[in-house]
Amino acid sequence: MYPEILLHIDGVWTKGSGSRSQPVLNPASGEAIGAVPYAEKADLDQALAAAERGFAVWRKVSSFERYKIMRRAADILRSRAEDIARIMVQEQGKPLAEAKGEILFGGDIIDWFAEEGRRTYGRVVPARAENIYQLVLKEPVGPVAAFTPWNFPINQAVRKISIALAAGCSVILKGPEETPGSCAELVRAYADAGVPAGVINLVFGIPAEISEYLIPHPIIRKVSFTGSTAVGKHLAMLAGQHMKRVTMELGGHAPAIVFEDADIDQAVKILAANKFRNAGQICVAPTRFLVQEKVYGTFVDKFTAAAKAIRVGDGLEKETGMGPLANTRRVEAMEAFVADAVSQGARIKTGGKRIGNKGNFFEPTVMTDVPLSARIMSEEPFGPIAPIMPFTDFDGLVAEANRLDYGLAAYAYTRSAKTATAIGAALESGMVSINHHGLALPEVPFGGIKDSGYGSEGGSEALDGYLNTKFVTQFGS
Ligand code: NAD
Repeated sequence: MYPEILLHIDGVWTKGSGSRSQPVLNPASGEAIGAVPYAEKADLDQALAAAERGFAVWRKVSSFERYKIMRRAADILRSRAEDIARIMVQEQGKPLAEAKGEILFGGDIIDWFAEEGRRTYGRVVPARAENIYQLVLKEPVGPVAAFTPWNFPINQAVRKISIALAAGCSVILKGPEETPGSCAELVRAYADAGVPAGVINLVFGIPAEISEYLIPHPIIRKVSFTGSTAVGKHLAMLAGQHMKRVTMELGGHAPAIVFEDADIDQAVKILAANKFRNAGQICVAPTRFLVQEKVYGTFVDKFTAAAKAIRVGDGLEKETGMGPLANTRRVEAMEAFVADAVSQGARIKTGGKRIGNKGNFFEPTVMTDVPLSARIMSEEPFGPIAPIMPFTDFDGLVAEANRLDYGLAAYAYTRSAKTATAIGAALESGMVSINHHGLALPEVPFGGIKDSGYGSEGGSEALDGYLNTKFVTQFGS
């Protein structure tokens, strides 16, 4: 049922040169379902040499040819969605439908970047004198070191790989050790589509060992990381010391704002679905619910009812609406958030506890009366807990929404066009979604500001991070 996990270096699937590995655990049972081999320094050296050669090959492949190979990878990925989804559920926990959706959406991401790669134009700048041609050229930055986490084993990786490939770069991806199987299947889809050896290399191991080795290495020209702000700052510092280009997609703590004139039922439906999707382990999940006083009680009741209605279970079971948390660290974090908030006067409307003693199940949780001093009001929850607090006026609301150093996603619900425009302008956030949940499509920018990072993983902006701008001025006819 669960595949053997291998590294992919220079077009070859390999166990690597060492003997270190870690078990892969099914978060629904806690049982080991496989093992992931660690890349040793010799393997990283091989991957670096392969990425250097792969870059030399891939940058010369025309963008039209790259487009065809990438589109083929997308089709292969889609055709294997059913099987890969089962692998993903076993290692990550999310419900099967969510896993399948992630994989199909991965196909959309590949398609879009394949197409966008054909539109990475330079430009000709009019010169001041005759017979001078001023050319602005876009060139691939070089081999990329990419680091992706366990919450979306495919979608975090597919963005980085696809953007790099569209730009003409090669990649060494350090995939998620806890959810390696589906990520490896993504790489397999690319390899089977005809991406040349060395262009995509996949390694696993001790994250700090790998980043400390790859980021300073002269072959690596670009670093892309998705994960926590603390780790992101450390890696950005390392990259800065070696003047490497960086894209950082870090944590968030998204305000979900509901004004008194909003369609409350619609707001509850969309916000609850997105709060508890992937058991809340999403960087753009709504996490601080700010509801205007007049509708606060109604919203809390309806949102609590929606949370109670979610069926928690093994992601492979058909009725499951929310799976287990992906690892035991998240369960411990949820317990600590709840205990801390309750000790400071928070009230639990529903949930608040782990379920059973097998697997990492935690109840969908709604809390009210949570003081701002509670940790959950400042630290990214990354789990199925929704603290809801009331607000009275617009200015106070904006101050609270912008209080944190995070600035990734924000949500607002109102029937007033004027309020919608005002809140869209006032929020310090890389992305704002008003009256619907419309983030993360391949064709739109995806990224944060402030401590949530910089650079985009969506839209045409994403390619900029993987391209150098070269200016050539030429005299003579
Ligand atoms: P963590 O901070 O240890 O790890 C987060 C990610 O960074 C993991 O993928 C890990 O492999 C990687 N990582 C850690 N140290 C690294 C290093 N020195 N070099 C390279 N990669 C490194 O914590 P965790 O328990 O795995 O996740 C918890 C927190 O991480 C969450 O609270 C959340 O804030 C954040 N997170 C964010 C995202 C996201 O989508 N932005 C995804 C997963 C986790």
